[in-house]
Amino acid sequence: MQDVVVVGSGPNGLAAAVTLARAGLAVTVFEGADSIGGGSSSAELTIPGVLHDVCSAVHPMALASEFFRRFELERRIDLLVPEISYAQAIDGAHAAVAYRDLERTAAGLGGDAGAWRRLFAPFVQDEGRALGETIGASLLGVPRHPSTLARLGLRALRQGSALWRNAFTGEDAAALLTGVFAHTIQRMPSLGSAAAGLALAAFAHGRGWPIPRGGSGAIARALADDLIAHGGRIETGAWVHSLDELPPARATLLDVTPRAFLQLAGDRLPGRAPYRRFRYGNAAAKADFVLSDPVPWSNAELRRAVTVHVGGTRRQMAEAERVVAAGGHPCEPYLLTAQPTLLDPERAPGRHVLWAYTHVPAGSGEDPTEAITARLEQFAPGFRDTIVASEARSAQQLGAHNPNDVAGDIAAGAVTFGQLIARPTLSPQPWRTPVRGVYLCSASTVPGPGVHGIAGWRAALLALRTEFGIAREPDLSPEA
Ligand SMILES: Cc1cc2nc3c(=O)[nH]c(=O)nc-3n(C[C@H](O)[C@H](O)[C@H](O)COP(=O)(O)OP(=O)(O)OC[C@H]3O[C@@H](n4cnc5c(N)ncnc54)[C@H](O)[C@@H]3O)c2cc1C
Repeated sequence: MQDVVVVGSGPNGLAAAVTLARAGLAVTVFEGADSIGGGSSSAELTIPGVLHDVCSAVHPMALASEFFRRFELERRIDLLVPEISYAQAIDGAHAAVAYRDLERTAAGLGGDAGAWRRLFAPFVQDEGRALGETIGASLLGVPRHPSTLARLGLRALRQGSALWRNAFTGEDAAALLTGVFAHTIQRMPSLGSAAAGLALAAFAHGRGWPIPRGGSGAIARALADDLIAHGGRIETGAWVHSLDELPPARATLLDVTPRAFLQLAGDRLPGRAPYRRFRYGNAAAKADFVLSDPVPWSNAELRRAVTVHVGGTRRQMAEAERVVAAGGHPCEPYLLTAQPTLLDPERAPGRHVLWAYTHVPAGSGEDPTEAITARLEQFAPGFRDTIVASEARSAQQLGAHNPNDVAGDIAAGAVTFGQLIARPTLSPQPWRTPVRGVYLCSASTVPGPGVHGIAGWRAALLALRTEFGIAREPDLSPEA
């Protein structure tokens, strides 16, 4: 009998596998796709020699993650941290900018300088570490930093309700923050978008919003290298359709959604398993561009920003998300874009790469290339003429590429406030399942989506204690 089997090699599956291998256990990972990494992978999607991020591109959560701090990710790969964490294209040439430097950001927000400073100063003092640990330690039980959690909660209550109207006097601060809230793909204001968005926005003024040199695949490779160096094995091209197909093991960790778990477990699960109530959210549709020249943004600061939210004012973004929530495709869609070649030109020698996605209803089959291009033209006239090649994935295609992105839901489950806490069930150990020895460890579990590895790490620590009686946390540092 094997010690451990892991299904799925996304950042959470690999984090779980590394943690268990570091405890001296024999670990095998089964990955359905032909390559590892799940949402943390890079590939030549368009023309040979040009590297694109297939899913995730920007990694504030990797830098804030307690798991990656212990794994010492920064010693293993080069994380390039831009001076501008993110920017918001508001109207033609008008934009607002979140620099890593909180004071500089506040200074650009006119009459809302004080409000912005008050919002984020408490999280910035320790570079967002307490916030990262709080989220990593799970939002349940006794948090490691209760005052940090309370501050985040109070701010989320204000920004996630009708009170958000009174939070700022001007448009720039409101739009800048809403561009981050919109990552969660839901109606705004809402508690879920505000809680997750405030954490992300706080990281912007802490350790920053980095990109890995060589693309997001570098993160998965660093994890896989460590796993293999500690005796682990990875089999790719190995889709698992039932738990019965897996070799017997003392612990099985599943980097899959609750929906997939119901199928894999079949009648091993009691009929009234709570996973049936888990809800999936609306979707993303993505386009990757190779450009002859950098994006010709009308605003000069946007030409220096790796991450640009394109969406106009707070009201316009809320309207676009409302249309998506109602099942439509907005006329003025919100876009999340990244320009990685600003910091990492080797990804496309002599050219430029633009990573972009927009929000669409779950399961949409629409190719988003034209909607994204037309929206970008409003803020960067001439963009269309710079396009050398592009590749698109509709929400349907994203879901087909990775079953964790159900119908294009890139968060592996709606990021509502309820599902941030009860993810996938309300429990101090949400990774445990009713099937003995089987754990869920994907982004459908606490603390939710993003490349942070925390769900995998926490699930692995629980399995170590429960199945192997090992209470000591393994040392994850490169030297160990
Ligand atoms: C378009 C897009 C953009 C994103 N942008 C960002 C970003 O910029 N920053 C960020 O932090 N996050 C981003 N995310 C989210 C992030 O990628 C995910 O939250 C993260 O990858 C989740 O990790 P995971 O290990 O839980 O699952 P995944 O990364 O989804 O990995 C799951 C793996 O399991 C495999 N698998 C599933 N079922 C089976 C099975 N039955 N048998 C075998 N293998 C199976 C899949 O093939 C996949 O490799 C983005 C996601 C997408 C899709």
